[in-house]
Amino acid sequence: MSKVHKIVNTGDQNFLLIIEDSPEDTAYYLRLLKRIDHPFRKVITVASLTEGLKSIDENAPACCLLDNFLTDGTAFDFLNHLKNAYINSPCPIIVITGQEDTSTAVKLMHTGAQDYLIKQNMDSPQLERAIFNSIKTWELQSKINQLALYDSLTGLGNRTLFIEHLSRLFNEYQRYNRSFALIFLDLDRFKLVNDTYGHEAGDVLLKQIGQRVRQLIRKTDIAARLGGDEFAILLPDIKETKANYVAYKLVKTLNFDFKWKQTTISTSSSVGLAMCTKNIDNCNKMMREADIALYQAKKLGRARYSSFNLSLEKEIIELERLACALPHALQYKQLQVAWQPIVNVANQQVDCVEALIRWYYNKQWINPLLIIDLMLERRLGDVFHKWLFEYSLEQLSLWRLDNNNIRLSLNLPANLCHDSKIIQLLIETIKFYSIPPESVTVEVTETHLMDFPEETRKKLIILSDFGIRIAIDDFGTGYSSMKYLANLPCNILKIDQTFFLTLKENPRNSIIIEAITALAHRMKMQVVAEGIESQELYQTAQSLGCDYVQGHWLGEPNLGSNLLSNSACQEKIHTLKKTG
Ligand code: C2E
Ligand code: MG
Ligand code: MG
Repeated sequence: MSKVHKIVNTGDQNFLLIIEDSPEDTAYYLRLLKRIDHPFRKVITVASLTEGLKSIDENAPACCLLDNFLTDGTAFDFLNHLKNAYINSPCPIIVITGQEDTSTAVKLMHTGAQDYLIKQNMDSPQLERAIFNSIKTWELQSKINQLALYDSLTGLGNRTLFIEHLSRLFNEYQRYNRSFALIFLDLDRFKLVNDTYGHEAGDVLLKQIGQRVRQLIRKTDIAARLGGDEFAILLPDIKETKANYVAYKLVKTLNFDFKWKQTTISTSSSVGLAMCTKNIDNCNKMMREADIALYQAKKLGRARYSSFNLSLEKEIIELERLACALPHALQYKQLQVAWQPIVNVANQQVDCVEALIRWYYNKQWINPLLIIDLMLERRLGDVFHKWLFEYSLEQLSLWRLDNNNIRLSLNLPANLCHDSKIIQLLIETIKFYSIPPESVTVEVTETHLMDFPEETRKKLIILSDFGIRIAIDDFGTGYSSMKYLANLPCNILKIDQTFFLTLKENPRNSIIIEAITALAHRMKMQVVAEGIESQELYQTAQSLGCDYVQGHWLGEPNLGSNLLSNSACQEKIHTLKKTG
């Protein structure tokens, strides 16, 4: 039998249940009851524990009088059964014993009875008092349980309730092979909502998430808030395909515009799914698998779900190893910067150099996007940027000794753009190296710009007012909202490399590039073409009106700092100059 976390009451609860196998004793209790002013609308009598359990399962009474010894078991059996079946006791129980034995009575109370009465001494006032006290005690206990097992903010279960149900479902799986699913759910960028709009906004958002989750799942499913913005859902008795569908629906339902005062915040959640299968031999393992799946969903770009598989586990172990090594790498300056030239189409000179992070770890180069992700996840943003800014700006100041027109382009994760500390750090470092702010460009990727439009805008204005140029990176891959761009202090659009790299398959890309370029120019912005891998692409970019070009044909990102004097780029520029 499964444990029920709430009393499943469908009908009238205002009745007394008497479980007694002796007809004389039953008649005796009824006589006593007649003489008192009891609150029950009716009295139901049954003669066995089995019937008593059935009755409670169908509809819990307001109170139950239970004989200590029945033909099919004792009051202890009955109370133990209820304890296993229900997380909260379904009703107050008064045990009626034949003998005066205090130690048995105490044991009965420990097993879940609210009170006990000695049959021989029983009279109406005593019965009335016992009924009244038992109901009151039980109500108090239920309230305490509610506080102990439920999350006061969302009304969903809490971690304790979740663990209880997880162990119950796991035991059932082991006994009856009844499969179930575990979902971990985590809000995307919740910390930013809290930091930007305050805890009150965060709480309202969490409540709305709770409501949406509750509306979506079945009554028999169990939803809990484990803490912060982490939720867990247990789906009993479910096949994998169905569980995947629930996960999919959750992602869809939790992707919505949250209205807070005058602001609209687009919010989404990531979901990880684990099924209880043969390889799960304990609850912790299942929780770990759901966690890994959730991690994967976040890695894949959030607002999605992922279900656990074994190859995922290896990948996560690898990622964990990397994440642990990153602080050490930062501390011992093992990260490097590769420089990639950005060429001005008008005069074929290197106008700017983009700084791109590099990390050689365990005999391989780590994907820069992964480095940035791990850095954000481990909250190393400050340390990382302090190092990056100092390293790059020092290099820029050295280059400027030979060429004081050269600029530097730095990438800034959009979700750190509203971090005042990072913004100030950049301004201070530029001042420290006495670099004109116009020589520095900050590139922000388009995809995350819209997450916190107002806050990001404010911080970008600070940078812009200081003189730094702002570039929107990878333009065309995200919302591409020109309307929004019009409100940003944006100087440069970097058209994403995919437009150029897939030009052969999609000749219509050129129409898009041309249109973006024309519009950008009307908005007084300059355009950089990314992904220029051949002379042909260079010429296309030039003919479509792009102002600057960047790509392997002109120069791959290079670890050496002497790129301005001798890189392959110089050769290419030379050829360009010759061919005009
Ligand atoms: P991004 O800012 O758009 O940088 C351009 C990426 O395109 C670089 O990849 C560069 O190596 C690559 N690329 C340049 N020319 C070509 C080309 O002709 N063909 C092809 N196929 N690729 C080309 P990389 O270095 O792997 O960096 C990837 C992304 O990682 C960057 O894209 C940027 O978003 C991020 N990133 C790199 N370094 C940093 C950093 O220091 N901070 C931040 N926040 N992000 C960084
Ligand atoms: Mg960039
Ligand atoms: Mg880019």
